[in-house]
Amino acid sequence: MFEKITEHIYIRPCESYTDRPNIGLIVGEKYSMLYEAGNSRFHVELMKNELSEQGLPFPDFVAVSHWHWDHSFGMDAWKIPSIAGRKTHEKLIEVSDWEWDDDSMEKRIKSREDIAFCSEMIKREYPDRSEIKVVGADIVFDDKLTIDLGGVTCELAHSKGPHSDDSVVCYVPEDRFMFLGDSNCKDLYGKPWHFDIEHEEDFLDSVDAIPYDKDIVDKFITFLDRYDFDLCASGHREPFSKKELYESLR
Ligand SMILES: [Zn+2]
Repeated sequence: MFEKITEHIYIRPCESYTDRPNIGLIVGEKYSMLYEAGNSRFHVELMKNELSEQGLPFPDFVAVSHWHWDHSFGMDAWKIPSIAGRKTHEKLIEVSDWEWDDDSMEKRIKSREDIAFCSEMIKREYPDRSEIKVVGADIVFDDKLTIDLGGVTCELAHSKGPHSDDSVVCYVPEDRFMFLGDSNCKDLYGKPWHFDIEHEEDFLDSVDAIPYDKDIVDKFITFLDRYDFDLCASGHREPFSKKELYESLR
């Protein structure tokens, strides 16, 4: 279910079993926008039902934070205009040609185009992987895009954070809130690390052990310094304060 966080913002909490991220819903007087599409048609259908049960407005647009499957694979199922930064859009077009049989997935792990963690989670989310449908976005922007929803605005901007270089954040100035996507998180695709679905309990320790690239983090902090916010949400944990965000990066 979606939970009200600030005047215009609702968040549907992340679920770790198949790595579903937090989904943001920003509600204006004229339009509503989702930030993050979800990881599958099943995830999207669940959200559509919850929105109508909760009497919340159906979104007019869906924006995605970066190309990773858990944030973007639900995009087509919303059947509304989708928004992404150019790098994310281009990567999604590339991923739309990927095949999802065991061999193809295994090959991509070996070539480090993909990682074992995502492969295992995709297998869990999709009992039938022929259901996977990846698409590019309908609206593509280069640096920044501001959307006026009526009484509340969403400022999408490329953050180039440490997680993935296509990352786009969504700043909501009226609510002093920042959606980070995963942009503050570790880069799971850069250096090799080990994931074993049989020892899922080791996941957080393994990710903690991945080092941050200091130069990228410094640039990311300079980027964040421009924005005035009290609370923020990352992809896979509860909302937290700006102070906690800076502490975690340093
Ligand atoms: Zn990610």
